[in-house]
Amino acid sequence: MRIILLGPPGSGKGTIADELHERFSFVHVSTGDLFRSNIKNQTPLGLEIRSYMEAGSLVPDELTIRLVEDVMTNGNLGDHFLLDGFPRTVRQAELFDQFLTSRSEKIDAVVHVYVPDDLIKERLRGRRVCLNCGKTYHVPAHPPEYADVCNACTGLLIQRKDDNADVVAHRLEIYHKETAPLVDYYQKRGLIVDIDNSGKFADVMLDLSAKLKLG
Ligand code: AMP
Repeated sequence: MRIILLGPPGSGKGTIADELHERFSFVHVSTGDLFRSNIKNQTPLGLEIRSYMEAGSLVPDELTIRLVEDVMTNGNLGDHFLLDGFPRTVRQAELFDQFLTSRSEKIDAVVHVYVPDDLIKERLRGRRVCLNCGKTYHVPAHPPEYADVCNACTGLLIQRKDDNADVVAHRLEIYHKETAPLVDYYQKRGLIVDIDNSGKFADVMLDLSAKLKLG
């Protein structure tokens, strides 16, 4: 099954993706993670995209689609994967559709994760990420055992630069302008599965697994 996770920053796409990976063995592809790893490793792509990411702006479509095509071609994804954070513009979706058609492949479902903006701002204010393994926490909702230390690998927990309040407001603005039109784009293709992620996570996962007919 090939899935796209669509939703605003801070809507919990990453957590849902981790759960789908652990429980249903989906390969998790996050363009945000791939970009961050390019920045960390100071690759030519990383140097090119750093300023966009720190400002909370979108990386240009051509660079993004090139990255995704490369992963899809060389990454051994098989046919059971989920894309988290891609596509984020109608242009990316169109280019991606062309790419999939050229491989005689198609997306099976687009999970549209909904959370109101106020809750997103509160969630992102408390989000902490492990500098070493990328695991995420939330203070105070899901804190680590010891302050600023990752439970899984003892790495240092930090707040992402793009999670500060001004950048978050900018990211939400971009989401509503550039990414939200994709709901309509995929609705027309009969692919949208709506999920409200403002309630209890266990209930959200039950709802999602039933709608995707998993397990
Ligand atoms: P995320 O981890 O998904 O919140 O993404 C973090 C940042 O990576 C975004 O604010 C963008 O700067 C960049 N990014 C991730 N995915 C995309 C995409 N599909 N198109 C453009 N920029 C992206």
